Amino acid sequence: MLRRVLLAASASQGVRRLITTAPVTRDVVKRFVAGDTAADALAVTERLVGRGLSVTIDYLGEDTVDPDQAAAVASEYVALLDRLAAAGMTVGGKAEVSVKPTAVGLGLAEHGEKTAAENIARICVAARTAGTTVTVDMEDHTRVEATLRLIGELRADFPDLGCVIQSYLRRGPGDCEALAVAGSRVRLCKGAYQAPDAFAFAARAEIDRSYARCIRILLDGDGYPMLATHDPRLVAIAKSRVTTIGRDPGSFEYQMLYGIRTDEQARLAAEGAQVRVYVPYGKDWYGYFMRRLAERPANLTFFLRALSSRP
Ligand SMILES: Cc1cc2nc3c(=O)[nH]c(=O)nc-3n(C[C@H](O)[C@H](O)[C@H](O)COP(=O)(O)OP(=O)(O)OC[C@H]3O[C@@H](n4cnc5c(N)ncnc54)[C@H](O)[C@@H]3O)c2cc1C
Repeated sequence: MLRRVLLAASASQGVRRLITTAPVTRDVVKRFVAGDTAADALAVTERLVGRGLSVTIDYLGEDTVDPDQAAAVASEYVALLDRLAAAGMTVGGKAEVSVKPTAVGLGLAEHGEKTAAENIARICVAARTAGTTVTVDMEDHTRVEATLRLIGELRADFPDLGCVIQSYLRRGPGDCEALAVAGSRVRLCKGAYQAPDAFAFAARAEIDRSYARCIRILLDGDGYPMLATHDPRLVAIAKSRVTTIGRDPGSFEYQMLYGIRTDEQARLAAEGAQVRVYVPYGKDWYGYFMRRLAERPANLTFFLRALSSRP
């Protein structure tokens, strides 16, 4: 219920104004977001890579309604990739980038899919020059079909372009079957959005069961699974499957969000696993922040307590 309310609030301009202007918000946001600028993202990347972790960087923003803004987002990524390469962070794909389709134009009233594909292609060219990869984030269920279609098309030119499957969607396991093929980079997550029952599981147990099924399909397949979860039970299931089938630790990775379960990130890396941290930066952090609050009531309590303790 609370999750539903928070996700609905993430689309409300009134709540947005209230939260983004509250003086305390910045302190709480800092926990989940590297900072406002590419320099902030680079500093966090250098720190994490120095600790043996990998990174995927997200320039915050979504639901762009202006083609020029969509092109500007792509330009930001191109400049970021240049900067990462100059700092030696893209060697061996240590730092890559994650892109939201609606940030680069998917939601435009006209030619959205074409614009998003062109902008993502520009980012892929820059990533290739820098020696690293791009992963396309998955947004709400209304975007899934178009997102998978445009990734499918772009993979003809950029076979290492990563995609995301959400286990809360009923179609998740079927999509994993189709994508568990050689060279295919697939991030598996539970899904941070809200969807009608016809498309998605609502009960946690069902979402988790679907995630466990997807883990097995991806790990048993020939692709490169990127298991994005902080859920210790699901990480244990993945570990057990890896041991059973003897999968090479270099042939898959775990992924977690910046600021969440950092102890577990370090522990998995120390065990020899590949761990990639999703590092968001930029000023447009509202939607991302609200999804993090929605995932965990304790985050909301922390935020409200901080609000009320301010004079
Ligand atoms: C690298 C990465 C990329 C992602 N990309 C996408 C994407 O493209 N599309 C999409 O829809 N979703 C994406 N997500 C979000 C994902 O779908 C989930 O909403 C999120 O990861 C929480 O689910 P969980 O698997 O960690 O399990 P949960 O059951 O939500 O959490 C398990 C445990 O993890 C910890 N935890 C989880 N979330 C938080 C939090 N916000 N704050 C503090 N602790 C927390 C808690 O200890 C919790 O008990 C991504 C997640 C990761 C890690």
